[in-house]
Amino acid sequence: MTGLFPPPMGLIVELTHRCPLQCPYCSNPLELERPASELDTSAWMRVFDQAAELGVLQLHFTGGEPTARRDLPDLVRHASARGLYTNIITSGVLLDEPLMAALMAAGIDHIQLSLQDIEPENADRIGGYRGAHAKKLAAAQRIRDAGLPLTLNFVVHRQNIQNVARMIDIAEKLGAERSEIAHVQYYGWGLKNRAALLPSRAELDATTATVEAARARLKGRMVIDYVVPDYYASRPKSCMGGWAQRFINISPSGKAMPCHAAETLPGFTFPSVRDTPLAAIWQSDPAFLRFRGTDWMPEPCASCERREIDWGGCRCQAFALTGDAGRTDPACALAPDHAVMAEAVAERGIAPPPFIYRRINAGSERAPVEAVV
Ligand code: SF4
Ligand code: SF4
Repeated sequence: MTGLFPPPMGLIVELTHRCPLQCPYCSNPLELERPASELDTSAWMRVFDQAAELGVLQLHFTGGEPTARRDLPDLVRHASARGLYTNIITSGVLLDEPLMAALMAAGIDHIQLSLQDIEPENADRIGGYRGAHAKKLAAAQRIRDAGLPLTLNFVVHRQNIQNVARMIDIAEKLGAERSEIAHVQYYGWGLKNRAALLPSRAELDATTATVEAARARLKGRMVIDYVVPDYYASRPKSCMGGWAQRFINISPSGKAMPCHAAETLPGFTFPSVRDTPLAAIWQSDPAFLRFRGTDWMPEPCASCERREIDWGGCRCQAFALTGDAGRTDPACALAPDHAVMAEAVAERGIAPPPFIYRRINAGSERAPVEAVV
């Protein structure tokens, strides 16, 4: 690839892997990074300066739970002063009045709040945190009262999929401008819990019909984003808008990656923002160049008319399901490995197995939780 590649649209900032919740579909890696390894305030601010210089438009604060960092308002203020659009993706359980006021004073532009379900008991069970659902509803009200647009995220799976219509109803009642009904994506913790989470085809079809009807009813009032599971798809998603095409993801310790799941791939050494400027990472780091564009593609992608639409799907899913990140995503019906998707569906069983909750050291040691169901 020659010349300068256009800048990324967004920087995804995993401030910390600490989180009071323990969702069994968490997108964080199985090996969570320890608090002692986190970048400090000044290091993050330097990264935001570099992002603004590079031409990044949006900064997404995520985690773990980004509000677990006490310096979050300072970081928002710094990013905002550099002209970056600031968004926080949060579970909301720590979003109390003082923090909400501090974030508003710092210039936060948008907050996305996640809910585990609509039934409090089931929601708390899924998140592994007693009382979380009530705290989330209070946080939603706080976001609305502050005058910020509200986006509600629901992660959908076989243990809450029956409630999708009610999820949309509550988003409407809470005055959300946008809601996201996103089926679990099966990487990391989601893959580990796949049999406990993967819905049936009939459940998926019923949900899709519910979402379509709600979209028609709420047109002009609330936007509903809908993300379906790859396991029933015939073509893959354009994962992250293509490898190293639109986003840089930075882990709590400063590891820069094209997506949050990329560190599952063997044979990669991802650069650190501690010692490499963001522009150099984006333009020339070998890990970022490895699957950018179409040159790396095997058949059937190489000659497919969709190769610059879905970019061959997800590299991390290709590795997780075939052992080779360079193969066509098995979610594609044209992929030589597509049969593995049907095999996974067949393995899901009649009753879901117990959750393996997201904890440091894959369950042998508790994450820093405040209350556990
Ligand atoms: S455990 Fe749940 S709330 Fe916490 S970061 Fe993971 S998905 Fe988000
Ligand atoms: S063959 Fe490759 S490029 Fe074509 S639809 Fe499938 S994954 Fe996408």
